Amino acid sequence: MKKLETIIGLEIHLQLKTKSKMFCACSNDGENQQVNTTICPICLGHPGTLPTINAEAVKLGMLLALALNCQINQKSKFDRKNYFYPDLPKGYQISQFDIPLAVDGHVVIEINNKPQRIGIERLHLEEDAGKNSHVAGQTLVDFNRAGTPLAEIVTRPDFRTAEAAKIFLQDLRLLARYLGVSDAEMEKGHMRCDANISLRPLGDTNLYPKTEVKNINSFKAVEKALLFEVLRQTELWEKNTPPHLTATRGWDENKQITVEQRTKEGSSDYRYFPEPDLPPLIISDQMLAYSKSAMPEFPQAKVARLMTEYGLSNSDAKILVQNKHWADFWEQVMSDLQAWFVRAGGQAESVWENHKANLAKLNFNWLTSELFGLLPGNFNFSDLKISSENMAELLNLVYQNKINSSAGQMILKEMFVSGADPSQIAEKLDLAQIDDVAALEDLVVKVFMLYPEQYNDLKNGKEALIKFFVGKVMFESKGKANPQKVEEIIKNKL
Ligand code: ZN
Ligand code: MN
Repeated sequence: MKKLETIIGLEIHLQLKTKSKMFCACSNDGENQQVNTTICPICLGHPGTLPTINAEAVKLGMLLALALNCQINQKSKFDRKNYFYPDLPKGYQISQFDIPLAVDGHVVIEINNKPQRIGIERLHLEEDAGKNSHVAGQTLVDFNRAGTPLAEIVTRPDFRTAEAAKIFLQDLRLLARYLGVSDAEMEKGHMRCDANISLRPLGDTNLYPKTEVKNINSFKAVEKALLFEVLRQTELWEKNTPPHLTATRGWDENKQITVEQRTKEGSSDYRYFPEPDLPPLIISDQMLAYSKSAMPEFPQAKVARLMTEYGLSNSDAKILVQNKHWADFWEQVMSDLQAWFVRAGGQAESVWENHKANLAKLNFNWLTSELFGLLPGNFNFSDLKISSENMAELLNLVYQNKINSSAGQMILKEMFVSGADPSQIAEKLDLAQIDDVAALEDLVVKVFMLYPEQYNDLKNGKEALIKFFVGKVMFESKGKANPQKVEEIIKNKL
């Protein structure tokens, strides 16, 4: 049998982070409110009510579309997608059918360090439905979510592996967060994904009937559901009975399998027709230009910049960029360090350049291993009490050997709790490193007298004892002596 190729395309619904709903003034924070409280006659579909387009939702949708390199349709329209379901009070969803907000985009993802281009077919705006929950044989409906603005993104069938699909979704989540258009938490349903998958003999250019996998609510599940489908469909091809109908299957998280829900001959008949209650959506040249200018730096570009600007490694930069708040904090600390360096020594820029890469790595290490180690599981960045200036000051104390790293860790703990200034904490806890040569010399002389035998051996050339005496000085100073300087002093005395 010929080798088979996997063809995957994705459809993603992304909840837009607006204040109000897509077509009414209800709060868009329904997921955190009492059920059926963020509702009104419009989102409940009462007769005689009229929808109004939320300009903020349009702006966010445009930002996302531009970030996905799409063409914006400056004139698009809304349509009614008719179907019946208890969580859909109007009996139709307002969506965009034949003229979506944006078309023809692409993104580049990286798979095993190789770039791969993924086409974006379209991005359109629509409203979400309410939420059914099935409890003890009854179905309860919460309409808080009804009317939440969604951006639906449809990719081209450009993925060849389940892993590629997962990477794309992770990149999309990060992009959405950088743009501030969505919290994009899959577990909370802010980002929902349906995946279309089919196989074909390698070299064949036809597309065969696809299987749509629904209800995938985590990145892990996307990959597992698709891998399951690859195996299932491979078996069918090997038995010479490939799927001949388009089918819908659901991912069963408990059994870790996909389950057939329905098969269909063509696309469902939603009896789309133009929404008569809404005018066409017009994007002015001015609005488009504004959106283009409002683009923040994207994650991929940020990785590249952190590498060239600060000498961070690719893997360190990628870790930082995973969270925009922390990446921005890290960079603010760098700029505070630079200000300090230039100010303190009146030092030339070239001096800063010499230290920059070392400080970047020090900053990265202290952020990701020391500070992250202090964070409780549900930590919110906005609760951080440590200012970037204070973090820079702490790193400076460590870098200049004014304190050793265990003292630094104690100071950081205190800073995390109180937000206090590191040099004040160092003073209060009496942690400042002893740097003063005269004080260190006194300590060295003291330990020489305490261990006369070893001192004799040292003088007779037993150099291994240098470490012994450095250790003794550290002990006598309660860990505060600068070990490099102590070693120098001992050597000078021989
Ligand atoms: Zn409403
Ligand atoms: Mn949709």
